[in-house]
Amino acid sequence: MEFRAPIDLHAHSSVSDGTQSPAELIRSAAQAGLGTVALTDHDSTAGWAEASAEASAQGIGFVPGMELSTRFGWKSVHMLAYFFDPGSAELVAECERIREARRTRAEAIVTRLAVDYDLTWDDVLAHTAPGASVGRPHIADALVTRGHVLDRSEAFETLLHPRGGYFEPLYAPSPLEGVELIRGAGGVPVLAHPATRGRDNVLDARYLKALVDAGLAGLEVDHRENTDDGRAYLLEFAAEHDLIVTGSSDYHGAGKPNLLGENTTSPASLERIAAESKYLSR
Ligand code: AMP
Ligand code: FE
Ligand code: FE
Ligand code: ZN
Repeated sequence: MEFRAPIDLHAHSSVSDGTQSPAELIRSAAQAGLGTVALTDHDSTAGWAEASAEASAQGIGFVPGMELSTRFGWKSVHMLAYFFDPGSAELVAECERIREARRTRAEAIVTRLAVDYDLTWDDVLAHTAPGASVGRPHIADALVTRGHVLDRSEAFETLLHPRGGYFEPLYAPSPLEGVELIRGAGGVPVLAHPATRGRDNVLDARYLKALVDAGLAGLEVDHRENTDDGRAYLLEFAAEHDLIVTGSSDYHGAGKPNLLGENTTSPASLERIAAESKYLSR
């Protein structure tokens, strides 16, 4: 397959915690001058059809993707997935389980917050598109509307922080199970922003190696939250294990400062991703 640059392989719509609908996101991508964009909502493919149709209308390339929630001990690990069968029974069932857990977990956080702050579950629902993968960003928006914090960033640094006193962890499969589910659906797994806290905080090398053996295809190296020494480590690891290297914005509309195209992926890397998909080739 031929892909047009610039290529951004990580963006969210209101199907999860982005602030734009899938079609609006695609129009923003076209306006930003992207040649190809992926939609990677958390634990959902519900935006694919709308995004794909709008991408055709706008004349830009569309890559169907998702950011699967996984968990390693207490650490939340995000796994990007590309070109997989959205009807894969096992993956669909796991995503449904995660989205259900997202809802009960968000309600638990709100119940705790409501003891100290004026906040209701309806406030959160008012900021959540019907059926969306709900998360802390939607609670953050409700906290902003109620005037308890200025923006999502402040909410994450204070009340929604894991040590902020109101946090509840999210159920999620292990990263290894995530890789297996994505490969099982014919897709191509790429570890999202693996070095947000530096090279010493990347998943430990032995576990990373186990992920590679299970089919991990790539690492998202160029992402604004990866530290410089973390990126250097990831590049070494990728070279050693012949992994695909990507770069992306992790755009969330107005929900984050990240801008479409601020980091990009080479056409060669995307061609490798597409070539590894068993869903595209069947
Ligand atoms: P959750 O999925 O509920 O654990 O929330 C994590 C999500 O919140 C991630 O997908 C991020 O995109 C988003 N997020 C994390 N930190 C921030 C921040 N400082 N500002 C806005 N969004 C954030
Ligand atoms: Fe997000
Ligand atoms: Fe992420
Ligand atoms: Zn993301």
